[in-house]
Order: sequence, then C-alpha cells, then structure tokens
Amino acid sequence: MKKKIIITGGLGYIGTELCKLYSGVSWHHKITVIDNRFISERVNQIRNWNMEFVQGDILDKSLVKSFFEDADVVHHLAGITDVPRTKSESSKSQDEKIKEVAEKGTQNILDVINDKCKIIFPSTHVVYEGINEVKTDIEENENTKPVLSYATSKAINENQLKKSGKNFVILRLGSVYGYSTDSMRIDIMPNLFSKITSQNGTLKLFAGGRQIKSLVPLIDVARCFKFMEEKDEINSDVFNLTKETLTVKAVAGICKKYNPKILLKETNDEVPNLGFSLSNKKLLSTGFKFLYNLDQNIKEMIQKWSKQNLTKDLEYVKDGDNLFIDNRGAISNHELTEPINLIGLIESKKGSMRANHFHPQQEQKCLFTKGQIIEIFQDIINPNAPKITQVVNAGQLSVIKPNVAHTMVFTKDTTFLNLVRGERDHENYGITHTIRKTIVEEKEKELLLKCYKFECRSCGSTDLKRVLSLGYQPLANNLINKKDEKSDLYPLEVNYCQKCHNCQLSVAVDPKKMFSNYLYTSSTSKIFRDHFINAAKKYYKELKLNKKKSYIIDIGSNDGIALKPFIEMGFKKVLGIEPAKNLSKLANKNKIKTFNGFLEKKNLKKIKKNADLILASNVFAHSDKLKEMADCMLSLISKKGTIIIEVQYLMNTLKDFTFDNIYHEHYNYWSLTSLVYFFKQFDAKIYKSEKIETHGGSIRVYVKKDKKIKIEKSVKNMLKEEENFGIKDYKTYQNFGNKVYKIRENVLNNLKRIKKNGKKIIGYGAPAKASTALNFYGISNEIDFIVEDNKLKHNKYIPGVKIPIRKKSFIKDKNNTLLVLAWNFYEDIKKNNSNLSDNFINIKELESNN
Ligand SMILES: [Zn+2]
Repeated sequence: MKKKIIITGGLGYIGTELCKLYSGVSWHHKITVIDNRFISERVNQIRNWNMEFVQGDILDKSLVKSFFEDADVVHHLAGITDVPRTKSESSKSQDEKIKEVAEKGTQNILDVINDKCKIIFPSTHVVYEGINEVKTDIEENENTKPVLSYATSKAINENQLKKSGKNFVILRLGSVYGYSTDSMRIDIMPNLFSKITSQNGTLKLFAGGRQIKSLVPLIDVARCFKFMEEKDEINSDVFNLTKETLTVKAVAGICKKYNPKILLKETNDEVPNLGFSLSNKKLLSTGFKFLYNLDQNIKEMIQKWSKQNLTKDLEYVKDGDNLFIDNRGAISNHELTEPINLIGLIESKKGSMRANHFHPQQEQKCLFTKGQIIEIFQDIINPNAPKITQVVNAGQLSVIKPNVAHTMVFTKDTTFLNLVRGERDHENYGITHTIRKTIVEEKEKELLLKCYKFECRSCGSTDLKRVLSLGYQPLANNLINKKDEKSDLYPLEVNYCQKCHNCQLSVAVDPKKMFSNYLYTSSTSKIFRDHFINAAKKYYKELKLNKKKSYIIDIGSNDGIALKPFIEMGFKKVLGIEPAKNLSKLANKNKIKTFNGFLEKKNLKKIKKNADLILASNVFAHSDKLKEMADCMLSLISKKGTIIIEVQYLMNTLKDFTFDNIYHEHYNYWSLTSLVYFFKQFDAKIYKSEKIETHGGSIRVYVKKDKKIKIEKSVKNMLKEEENFGIKDYKTYQNFGNKVYKIRENVLNNLKRIKKNGKKIIGYGAPAKASTALNFYGISNEIDFIVEDNKLKHNKYIPGVKIPIRKKSFIKDKNNTLLVLAWNFYEDIKKNNSNLSDNFINIKELESNN
C-alpha cells in the first residue's frame, strides 16, 4: 500500500537519519518533510530523494490542515531541542516557547489527522528525572515525574496523544548519541565526551562519574521509528527506546581507550540523583533489533573530529582502504573529502596524453580502474616550483589540489573515473572550471614514456612512493662546452619501495649517455687513493689472498685506482671492467689490465671466470640493471670467493640531508636492509658489513655464495640500528623530503644575504653533487664562476645553471667569497688554497636557518 508519510522536524538530528532511511522507499510512498528551517544542501538532498520539502511551522493551523488531513503516518519530530538541562539554566520565556511548540503544535496535528493515521512520537527518559532514589529498568507503566520544562512538555504531549483517541506510538528515548552534522547535538554526554577526546582534552567526572545513563544510538532510533511505521499490529502503545545503560565513568573509559592522551578528572561532589535506567524488554519483544553500539559510535566521532594527519602535497596518490577479498574478487574503498555530484568515465589509449591544464577552484579526483599513467604536475602559484612526476596504477585514487597544473601520460590503455564536485560545463571551460596550461610537450611525453620506471629495480614491486623531487635536471656529469648548448632534462626524483625498502630514481637514463665518456677520475683525489691502498692491505690480510694465484676483478674500475695497490703489492692476476672508453684506455696505458664495457650478460664470455675477489665500489648505485649485474658477478666469482661491495649509505643521506648525492647516475640508494633483501633473491649471503668514510658515508658489505657461511654480528647490529632509525617506515622518507625543501629555502635566503656584501662569489669544485644542488636551488648568476682541480673540466659549464668552470689561476685577488661546493673536501680545500681567498664558506653552512 502506498502511504502518505509526513516527517515533521525532518532537518533535525533524528529527522536527518530518518530521511536517509526513507530515501530507500521514497518511490513507493509519498513522503513529505516539514521543517521551519531551510538548510539548502539538505533540502536539495531531500528533493533528489523524491521527497517533498515544505518550509513551515506546525503552529500554522492552515498549513497543518492542508498537509495532515489525509496523512497515513506522521513522524512527529518537530520541537525545540535546545533546552535547559538544569533549573538554573531555564528561563520563563524559553520555557513557555518550548511548551507552546510542543503542546499547540502537537494539538494542531492531532486535530486534523484521521483516526487511522498513525502518529509516532519521541518522548524522553527524562520524564522520570523527578524520581529520587536510584531506579533501574523502569518499565513503561511507571508514572512519569518530570521537573524541567522539556520533560514536562513531553509528559503533557504523551497525555495529549493518549487522550486523542488516535493511533499513536510513543517512544521514550534514552540519551541519543552518534555522529551528525547537527552542531546542536554536541552537548549530549557521549558526543561531548567524544568531542573533548578528539581535542586531547580533560573529561570531568562529577561525583566520580557514578551516575548511570540509558543511552541509544542515533541510527537505531531512526530505524525504530520506521519499524513502528511498518508494524501495523502495534497500535496506541508506549515503548522505552534505549540500548545500553552505563555509568558516565564507563563512557569516559571508552573514550580513553581510543585516545589514551586524555585526562579523566574525578570530583567527589554529591549529586542529588545517581540516575536511573529504562528497561527495553518490551521493545525487544516486538522483534526490533539494535544494530549499532556505543563503542563504535564513540570511535567514529573521535576519528571524525580529531586533527587529521592530512597530506599537504599538491597531489597525492592513495590506495583503497578496508580491502575486502574473497573468492569472488576484491573490494577497496576511498573516502572522499567532499561530496561528488558528477562522475566522468574517461578512456584513454596507451601513449596518449590528457589534461595540461589546471583547475582554479576545484580539487580533481581521479579513480583509476584500469591501466597506468605518469602524472606530471607543478604548483603554478609558487614561482620556480619543481615539476614533479608520479606513477598512478589501477585501483589508486589521484587527488590534485586547485591551482596545480597537471598532465596525464597514459602508459597503458587506461580507464578512470573523474569525480567532480560542481559542474564540468564546457561553457565554463577556460573560465572557472578548467584553464589550459601546457606543462608537457609532445617531445617530453616521448622521453618520459621511454625512460620511466614502473617497477622496483631491486625486487620488482610496483608499490613505489615518492620521497623527494628535485625537479627536472640535466645529467650532472655531462658538462657542456658552450654556454648556449642545450642539455636534455630528466625528472630527478627518488622513490621508496615499500616492499624491499630500496630507494631509487623514478627514471632510468640510458647509461651510454652517462658513462661512455666519463670525466670523473678517481685517482685525482688523494683521499680516494689512500682509501683503496688501505682497503687492498686489509683484504690481503683478512681474506688470506695469494699474490701469485689470487684473481681479482674490479667492476667500474675507473682509471684503475682500486687495482693499482694490488699490483704494487705484487699481485699478478687483476682485471678492471670499465665502460668509459677514455678511462679504460688510461688504465691500460698504466699497465692495469682493463676490459672496456659494461658488466652484462653479452660481455660475460669475454671475461675470465673464477675470481677470488670481486670489488664493486660505487657501482651498485650506478646500475639500472641490478639483477643482471648481480647474476654476472655471481657467475664470475669462485665457489669460495668474496664479493665486496662499497656503496653510498642511505642512512647518511637521510641523517645528514645530503640530497646532493642524488643524480641520474645513482639509480639506487642502499641501506643494509635493502641490500640483504636484494641478495636473498640470489643464492648468496651478506655475512659482514661495516661503515666507511667515502662519499660522505658509505657501507661495505661482504658477500659469499657459500650458504654455510656464518653471518657476523656486524650485520645484525647494523640492521637493528637501521630499523630503529625508521628505515622501514615511509614517514622517515617523507620527513627527509620535507626537510630538503626547507634547506632550499634557507640556502637561497642565506645566499642573498652574502651577496649583499658586494664581493664576487666564486665556487670551488664542480662535482656532480654541485650540479644537483645548484640546479635544485636554481642558483646561476649569483656565482660568477667555479674553479676546479680536475683539468678535464676546465672551460666547460655546469649544465642547466650554466656556470663556467675555470682553472684556479683565474682568481686574480683574494677579494672574494669562496663558496666550497665540494663540501666533503672543505677542510682540505681551505687549508691548501689560502692564497685564493680570505673568506671560505662551506655551502653546507648555508643550509641552516640563521
Ligand atoms: Zn623493491
């Protein structure tokens, strides 16, 4: 039967929930919502649910007559709810208003409805507030004892209904609790406690919180109203509607469980009444079931009102939450920050591109259901903000903030849902909704498609998260010969692998572009020469090597710096492997036998096997094809042989914020944790590890194929140290990224300050790290030129920022500020070059905020 159902006070606390329930049957019944308020969003929602909304007052007799005469059901929720809770709070005029709305309004309805119409009315447990002794499980037939105006008017309403001869249901509600957007309801005890808890406050428990309270969840109250409407056999009856009875202290205890930071403060004052509780036996006997409870409601309210740990990123990518998997498949969920009223389904072909625009007002949200993209975005409000890239996979939600230009490059055939709040009217394209802004040209799209990495180089996982973006940068070691020479720019970004904890670049530049003609000769530096001399002596002793028989390979041997000490000790069988033609030529000329090429499968035949010792210093960071390189190393080493890897240590980078270690040649950033994970994939084991000084902090690990080898304590200790530092926690990496952006700000401010003294600023040292840092900071004209020890770099320019590199004699007098860019050699440089300047500054000193 189609019923005409009226909900008075439908915009209120209970009315809102009841309307939601009726939205499910609004095509079967005629539903009218009457409220004297007008809340535009709610009214719009009610109309979209196929319900009628009438703004009007039940004190208006003609309005009541026209709407209620033929009603089948009235949920009579209208009434003043902002009521005094103690005698001292109440005033005469307010009391009269409460009474008027309650009595006259209800009478107006009772006067016009027909005898078959069922009127369902919320009364309150407070009608028993006058009972002096503690009484529990009060049943429906107990005489009411109201004191204050609210309870009194409810008691009068009950009598009006009972005397009316109409079909009524009275529900005596316990304290109704639960999340709602209705701000009036914060003062209900469980809601108030949840609010205080969400703000880390103090819960005051008067009389030790011993008072008992009958409570009922909001959604179950709304459900019970609908239940009473549906049950034709329930006529002219009264029910207590309460779910649970607890002491105030017990409610506080639940709050404390969800936020241990809150304080509970008990006072020992006397209260006139320790409360009472209602029995819900009669209600349960009708078959009504409660579905919600206090614990979950308190948890929800605390969560919704707590300071949220929101991501401040311009753009972020999120996996779905609350994953539910069974044999039919998987469900994942995304909770949105705002209502969505428009969904676009967008399909895109592999290799194509969309967006290249920004939204001045709206947040864009895209849920990817199939395929994959590279997303490129840039803050257009902050000048010089870096252009950032990010992979988004199927199942992920990408959120882009207003005024962030963005572009999608589709790396697979892709489908996504565009979730929009407001309009996406093409008439407003270019005005309010979407404004064109090209940040990726066709050529750059092709470059990204070619060099982007979608899987972890170490373990193959696709779960990579962005740590830091240093913007688009030139290849740091590819110095340019002329100032107007153009450099290719590639994103310089570090991602973190959630699975194996390796950090790595988002792109892989063709190694031939970087390593074929290499200007970095290790032997230029005395520190490195000494390092390898000491290392050779140590290995000779510790590994019991034999000068005549032992065969030693060095991978990425540069100019032979690591092998030279072995030759000088008298070793006969050594081999370098070096991809840079100029360097291998130089090494061979110096009688250090060197194979020119990469260590890769196709070259393996040309290299003699069964090495007793393989050295790989600083190449482990430099390999895009890690697994292939490791396979080759393991096939070259003898059964008992040792592989010794030296690589820059991620822990130092993270602790010292040496982000300038990041450049395109360094594909990977290793911790012992991620190295151990890496070698687990092969039949090999790291059995020893130690920290060394080179490159601002490195680690040296010892690997053997021998499965029975005993793992030394050094490995266990270092792993523990890394774990304590947070090497397995993405937050550690996010903090690092945020600090690096802060450093950029500080350096630029400090440089401006130094520039004020009017002296020339000259750089010292042009290592790759200087290129990374200068390009990230955007420092170019501020530095006049850079002097450098390495002759091969003279008269070239740092790519990107185009600062010229000169020999030291270019400095004519000491009236300058010498900014040491090769900061890891600062003390040596300062000591050995006192003739060049009176004022040496380490670029690292500019990083702090002073
Ligand atoms: Zn991984």
